[in-house]
Amino acid sequence: MRKCLQIIAGPKVISMPDRGDQDRLLVTAGGTWHSRSMSEKPYHSFSAHLKQRFGGRVHKISVDAGFSCPNRGGTRHEAGCLFCDPDGSGAVGIERHLSIAEQLEAGKEIMTRKYKAKHFLAYFQPFSNTWGAPELLRARYDEALDVTGMVGLAVGTRPDCLPPPVLDLLAEYHRRTYFWLELGLQSCHDRTLARLRRGHDYAAFLAAYQAAKERGLRVCVHLILGLPGESHADMLDTVAEMARLQVDGVKLHLLHILEGTALGDLYRRGEVPVLQRDAYIQLVADVLERLPATTLIHRLTGDGPRQRLLAPLWSLDKWEVLNAIENEMALRNSHQGCRF
Ligand code: SF4
Repeated sequence: MRKCLQIIAGPKVISMPDRGDQDRLLVTAGGTWHSRSMSEKPYHSFSAHLKQRFGGRVHKISVDAGFSCPNRGGTRHEAGCLFCDPDGSGAVGIERHLSIAEQLEAGKEIMTRKYKAKHFLAYFQPFSNTWGAPELLRARYDEALDVTGMVGLAVGTRPDCLPPPVLDLLAEYHRRTYFWLELGLQSCHDRTLARLRRGHDYAAFLAAYQAAKERGLRVCVHLILGLPGESHADMLDTVAEMARLQVDGVKLHLLHILEGTALGDLYRRGEVPVLQRDAYIQLVADVLERLPATTLIHRLTGDGPRQRLLAPLWSLDKWEVLNAIENEMALRNSHQGCRF
């Protein structure tokens, strides 16, 4: 583990390959540092990175492209991961009866009205969005990219849905547009993955990740903090693995327990403890300190559907949680990467 960044003469500029010329870390005397994309934040935020790269805010619009998931038996009706809900986990506010283009146009209309937005990323979010023949995937991704204002794609999937022909296709999109592969891992511990009924182990993630990196893809890894049976140290083990791999991006999810999921049933029986707010804030600060400064932070917490959220209810005030994380980093006089 390296010590916190310190230089004697300053400031030094570290370029970040594959993140654009504007996106650099400035390391100043005394160990304080920031990047142009970091703005005031003690971490390398994805939204600030997008703003620099595209000259204005970029809004992600989630779409349901009609895929399913092998871990749900190839249908949307069977049980999958312990935390999966029938909407495919995380699909809030998607109008799935619409075509991909119509969903994106509807999202654009809202974002333009609210924020005068001009740039958008199409986010293939629910279920496993690489689980299909390459020609089918191509048709769905192209439909999204053809919508005016789309500057790129983000495609969420599982490690076992990335055979070589699909990875080759994704590499083509990486060359064509601004492209992120969002890969669900959640934990590096096989015992946790088995408990979650993930249907893959850590070795499967590593194989998929390496194959994606060999093709030059940007990969954002999804992790869940607060999984049943995991200690603080267990979670930091997973973060240490992400640091070792120097992943391009990380999305941190707080474990949400939703009504209508197998996890929700366990929670109601008192079999699943949930993280308390202060523990989560300390944990996220510990995570940020251990991730390389070059890793883009796509998310620090999540906001589950209010009507179906059983716990933790404190997470509903997302902005308060985000502010508390920044305050904790300020109190520690700390920043992303200082314990990497
Ligand atoms: S991988 Fe995603 S869609 Fe598939 S079962 Fe797990 S949470 Fe649900």
